[in-house]
Amino acid sequence: MDDCIFCKIIKGEIPSTKVYEDASVYAFRDIHPMAPVHILVVPKEHIACADDINDDNCVCVARIFAAIAKIAKQEGLTNGYRVINNCGRDGCQSVKHLHFHILGGKQLPENMG
Ligand code: 5GP
Ligand code: ZN
Repeated sequence: MDDCIFCKIIKGEIPSTKVYEDASVYAFRDIHPMAPVHILVVPKEHIACADDINDDNCVCVARIFAAIAKIAKQEGLTNGYRVINNCGRDGCQSVKHLHFHILGGKQLPENMG
């Protein structure tokens, strides 16, 4: 997707602070962190949102979660963390490339909204 900022980050056209990369997953620090650790984990393949996950592309989600476990260890999140995906307008998704937020490094609020 030519106009997608996360595709541009994956290609290196927009700079990012990379924390993890493999053949199908890229992870980088959120530009506006909401917690001491705030990382975005994305599939390299452009998938717009959770609604567009299907039988043909869903393997990338398993790879993302395998990456999340590695990243959590790498970041020292031994007390736990939260994984969030915002989807669509009601979910307040602002970037239309599937991404999972890892939030941690402090006690997070119980309220999920
Ligand atoms: P959403 O609201 O779509 O779930 O989350 C998008 C996230 O992407 C936001 O937390 C926002 O701070 C982050 N973000 C938006 N543009 C950039 C960028 O250019 N670089 C980085 N590192 N994060 C970004
Ligand atoms: Zn994209």
